[in-house]
Amino acid sequence: MRAIIVHTLTFAALALPATPAAAAEMATAIGPIVGGKDGMVVSSSSEAARVGAEVLAAGGNAVDAAVAVQFALGVAEPGFSGIGGGGFMIVYDVDADEVTVIDSRERAPASAKPKMFLKKNGEPIAFAKRRTLGVAVGVPGALAGAEAARAKFGTRPLAELIAPAIELAEHGVIVSQLLAASVREHEEVLAANPAASALFLPGDQPLSIGDLLVQPELADTLRLIAEDGIDAFYHGPIGQAFVAEVQAAGGGMKMSDLDNYQVTLDEPVRGEYGDYEIVTTAPPSSGGLTVLQILDLLEVLDPGQYPFDSSLRYHLVMKAMHLAFADRNAYLGDPEFVDIPLDDWLDPKYIQKRAALIDLKENTCPLPSGELSGAPAPAATAELSNGHPQTTHANVADRWGNLVAFTVSIEQHYGTGRLLPGYGFFLNNELTDFSPFPGRPNSVAPDKRPLSSMAPTLVFQGGEPVYVIGSPGGPRIIGAVAQVLLNLLEYGLDREHAIAMPRVYSAVCSEKARWESDLSLTIRDELEELGHRFLDEPAEVGDVGLIAIEGDTYVGVADPRRDGVAVGITRAE
Ligand code: GLU
Repeated sequence: MRAIIVHTLTFAALALPATPAAAAEMATAIGPIVGGKDGMVVSSSSEAARVGAEVLAAGGNAVDAAVAVQFALGVAEPGFSGIGGGGFMIVYDVDADEVTVIDSRERAPASAKPKMFLKKNGEPIAFAKRRTLGVAVGVPGALAGAEAARAKFGTRPLAELIAPAIELAEHGVIVSQLLAASVREHEEVLAANPAASALFLPGDQPLSIGDLLVQPELADTLRLIAEDGIDAFYHGPIGQAFVAEVQAAGGGMKMSDLDNYQVTLDEPVRGEYGDYEIVTTAPPSSGGLTVLQILDLLEVLDPGQYPFDSSLRYHLVMKAMHLAFADRNAYLGDPEFVDIPLDDWLDPKYIQKRAALIDLKENTCPLPSGELSGAPAPAATAELSNGHPQTTHANVADRWGNLVAFTVSIEQHYGTGRLLPGYGFFLNNELTDFSPFPGRPNSVAPDKRPLSSMAPTLVFQGGEPVYVIGSPGGPRIIGAVAQVLLNLLEYGLDREHAIAMPRVYSAVCSEKARWESDLSLTIRDELEELGHRFLDEPAEVGDVGLIAIEGDTYVGVADPRRDGVAVGITRAE
């Protein structure tokens, strides 16, 4: 277990705008698992988590802090998210006792064509190429989402919430193990772009752990937004440069697309597990509905009768994933464009019928999607994006009881790999989350949002919030969040154990499953005897951040998979 560092946060150490009186009154705990009575931030980036804690300590609420964390993440993890992308934020407003989803998912520009990801012969363009194309760039929603959240729920001016990110960009962030590894892994993509290569491969050498990443252009961009508001992007010079770069890369985005961009405030989707209520993100993310269906299927199968570390438990989890992903891939898309069969999705009779397809003795395969009324006929072939995105997620809680979880992304690490020259942020490639094939619920259309897997989620018991949870990881988000919730809600595992337990991910039964290195060989052998097949090498499944609400205390737990941190604050008596 990693050490927990408890100390008093000082603004000088963080180089943030000074309100030292507020900071001096707060005791701050930073570590992989910490408590705090007056606020909590959990993130894979310690810089971003600390920025959020500073905002909370200075009297900001959870949404103020979340917006500041979102900007800071775009600087500290510039390849994973940023103002060139989008995402989903779920907010629990304690006074109103209401949950709102702020949906800043990227949209396709008006010029987008249903067959734009197909070659002349009808085959999809190879993913390695598709991810770099100008037509893969969606109209970014990140800034509009942050501003919508702040305007509806926040208490601080946008400029104040951007200020810490400007400081981080200007003075530099120390390159973490996570950032260094991702630069090495994506060296080829970064080397292909002169602006990205100058920043991340200085002197043709990938940044390594302990280096200082200074981003003066990004600092200027953020300063412009702090001065002129988000119009500096949607109606101003940043947007003009963005559109010009997309066009130079072969895309058809125009300023009118930026002008037309709309955030939506969505109703969450809700499900139950035992006496817990799970409140989560609605389409165009598939994340919430798919997590809920997996958990409903599992509840019917009563996994609690098998030990939590048994092969049968993993078998049930994988089969529930196969069934739920089959429905996800067949039916889900942007609800502004397709009818989502919401009524039947969690209908007990339907769930019973689907659960009955699971054989305890065999990995029955294939498992087609079910028949749901009120929806178009399912796609003949289900498919997921070929890439392995792994972006970022954070959770925030404040002293009043407001809660926020958000996942933000530019899709693949470093998005298209194109860093906007002079402005220092990456162009997303989120439109690769569309099916490349026309005629499907998740096919490309102008102004449409590609199906996401993000699942920022809240859990309530007896009407009171008990958990705030989420993960990055593309479709693996769904497997990660569902498994941690199962560990918590069914098995009653303690929070740290619930997150640390090895996870599996298997969306399609005919494909090899992903597994984590701590999964025992015995369990893998037993699962193989049931007919499951595993990838040769282990790899992580998501990076789950959790806040547990325990009486008057928040307990923040960061996932050891990314060495994230929780920062808790408690007012000195
Ligand atoms: N494009 C992915 C999605 O929307 C990104 C999510 C992530 O990797 O965190 O599902």
